[in-house]
Amino acid sequence: MRFLSNIKKWTINLFGFHRHDDYVKKHLNDANVRSSAYMTFIIIAIEIWMIIRSINKNVIPQVSNGANLFDSLFTNTSLYFLFMIAALTMLVFSVFYMYEKSKIIDNKFEKKINTLIPAFFAIVLVLYSFLVIKEISLFKNWNQRYYVVNNVSVIFLYIFAFLLGSSIIGHTIYRYKYGKNQIILSIIVIIFFSLMCLTFGIKVGYSDFFSRFYLGTGLPKEAGFNDSGAIYEIKSIICFLTMVLYVGCLLIWKPYISIAMLTSIFIGYYYLLSGDPANRIFPDGEKVNYITFLITLCAIAVSIYQQRVREALNSEDLEYNAKFDSITGINNYNYYVKEISELLKEISNYNEFYYLFINIENFKTYNDQMGFNNGTEFLKRFAKKIVEIFGEFPCARESDDHFVAFVKMNEAIDKINELEKYLIEDSNGLYLNLRVGGVCPRNAAEDINTSIDRARYAASLIKDKYNKIFIEYDDEMHKSYKKKQYVINHLEEAIENGYIKAYYQPVVWSETQELCGCEALARWIDPKYGLLSPGEFIPVLEEVRLIHKLDSAIFEIVCKNIRKLMDDGKKVVPVSINFSRLDFELMDAVSVFENLINKYDIPKEYVHVEITESALTETQDLLQKSIDKLHNDGFSIWLDDFGSGYSSLNVLKDFNFDVIKIDMKFLTNFEKKPVTKVIIDSIIKLSEKIGMKTLTEGVETTEQAEFLKDVGCGRLQGYLFGKPIPLEEFLKQIEDNVFKISNEIL
Ligand code: C2E
Ligand code: CA
Ligand code: CA
Repeated sequence: MRFLSNIKKWTINLFGFHRHDDYVKKHLNDANVRSSAYMTFIIIAIEIWMIIRSINKNVIPQVSNGANLFDSLFTNTSLYFLFMIAALTMLVFSVFYMYEKSKIIDNKFEKKINTLIPAFFAIVLVLYSFLVIKEISLFKNWNQRYYVVNNVSVIFLYIFAFLLGSSIIGHTIYRYKYGKNQIILSIIVIIFFSLMCLTFGIKVGYSDFFSRFYLGTGLPKEAGFNDSGAIYEIKSIICFLTMVLYVGCLLIWKPYISIAMLTSIFIGYYYLLSGDPANRIFPDGEKVNYITFLITLCAIAVSIYQQRVREALNSEDLEYNAKFDSITGINNYNYYVKEISELLKEISNYNEFYYLFINIENFKTYNDQMGFNNGTEFLKRFAKKIVEIFGEFPCARESDDHFVAFVKMNEAIDKINELEKYLIEDSNGLYLNLRVGGVCPRNAAEDINTSIDRARYAASLIKDKYNKIFIEYDDEMHKSYKKKQYVINHLEEAIENGYIKAYYQPVVWSETQELCGCEALARWIDPKYGLLSPGEFIPVLEEVRLIHKLDSAIFEIVCKNIRKLMDDGKKVVPVSINFSRLDFELMDAVSVFENLINKYDIPKEYVHVEITESALTETQDLLQKSIDKLHNDGFSIWLDDFGSGYSSLNVLKDFNFDVIKIDMKFLTNFEKKPVTKVIIDSIIKLSEKIGMKTLTEGVETTEQAEFLKDVGCGRLQGYLFGKPIPLEEFLKQIEDNVFKISNEIL
């Protein structure tokens, strides 16, 4: 069964029984028009040659015998002229047809020329085909087969020429009105021209084939017979075959049409010749050649067709991908940028517009709860809605759940509200939010990517600062945006020049309040911006995936400092180092870490690895393996910001930590809310039970410190004991006995 269905599929494909989409149809048709243009050159050349030849052979002798020049010229060459004008008309038509493909015509003069010239040639053709009707009055001998075929084919030639001209005029009118080509009309044009070619081929082929058998049988001299029959024969079959080749192969129809057409032409022509009394024309050997030729033509027609279809499908893919987003089907970002840059050239009031960056906040939860496929369907609907609302101007999907649009300022708010309303309706009760940033174009030649990036930045600020769905990028944002760009562009330089420093914050035993360690916290002391705190550069570096550069730099600084202290014979306390989740993705963090430890020869107990809880929520194998490796190699792993995320308890189950750092949020409202005490107490008890030690961060008051000591939290860290300070100050505090180093540091 499978075999049969495969055969069926293969046959349908081979013979072209399936339907194509408009793009492929257009591609096939364009290719046919292109072939017509090439072919008409050849036809024009042949006709000129035929006209010259006929003048030499017939007209000049007849005129010198006293015949009227015009009459003689007309009877001998009118058909060639007709065919030549038709080819010329077709050439002009094809050239202008292809011209539309490559260029959008906006110049009025060009548009006129572009449509009027094909029309001019078509009108000449129609008029000429009227004129040659005169020749029909000269027809005679309708009782002889030779003359009948000849006369009928001439009459058909006139009719086809007339129809060809008319349909080109029709196409021209359409194009003048709508500024683009009309596929059906252009196919009709091609069909009429093909019919002309065929008729011409049959006429010339037939009459010359025939002439050989009437040699010396009393046919009139005017019919053009002479003694060189053999030469005629060769020429005539070539003429017939050329025309068949043209309509059968150069113009490509669906294979089943091509095959049916070619076969019927061949059969018809065969009967035309062999049905004659002198049917010795087709000896058996010739028949074989004739059939072989037919089969070859069919095979060529099919193979060209297959090739063109494949070509069309490929370029359709390319064109589609250049323009559309594969998930939602609306335009993609690249295409948006292209369209906007065209648009900016056209409008002068660009400062009355906004670029919009649209972000669906919390979309991840939708995906998590509803499933990935439903998430995709949701995005499709949302994208459609965006096009519905903002489609007057370019809009597109930028990536993930991010979209871009372009909107008139005075319509922006209403449209965004409409979108928000839709989002809430379609969000299935999940808490989805719209975050839209808007940027006004400053000039027509600006970099659109930068503007969109600013709109994105504005949208990202909504999250933490403003309780709105839309904000406009303003001067203040511009300053912070510049700072962000500065951070991204100057990180390497800052590391090299030593602008990046490690500050140290003390960690103490709750019992004795003696120093048992410290945490290294990054600071960027910049010549232009002064002191930058981690909040200003860490999220940025995480966003652009450069955080590992900073973290390895800080780690090396810490190692260097420890080495120096050890070399100077000073007492050293363990240092906690912060690792970002991305560090494990962006580099082989374990190797980098252990190589530096080896390079500076640092005892393992002098460094602790801090990993934040949020880093662990997406349980990745890679992260788990890295942590296990560090742990097995003897390093102490600390869980940072415990309790700030959603899945704290799971984290405790899946990972192996030595110390839990209880997030400082637990201490806010410490005095006012008794329940916080219960929670902290429970966390500490829980940790004890599973064999993990505890540290509480953000200790600012003696009450807090007392309480934490009473409930058994081992270590404390906070402003009460000291803020993060440079190494020199830290050492000075030790020297001055402000920080007393504990004898027990582990
Ligand atoms: P964290 O690891 O939770 O660090 C503790 C933060 O709390 C530090 O802020 C510290 O100055 C602050 N802090 C300490 N005690 C108190 C207190 O008593 N009250 C208050 N209100 N705050 C206190 P900082 O230095 O601004 O660092 C912020 C965050 O930046 C850090 O949070 C850490 O997640 C990240 N970070 C800092 N340095 C690095 C680094 O080198 N690499 C990575 N990946 N992240 C770092
Ligand atoms: Ca930390
Ligand atoms: Ca922390």
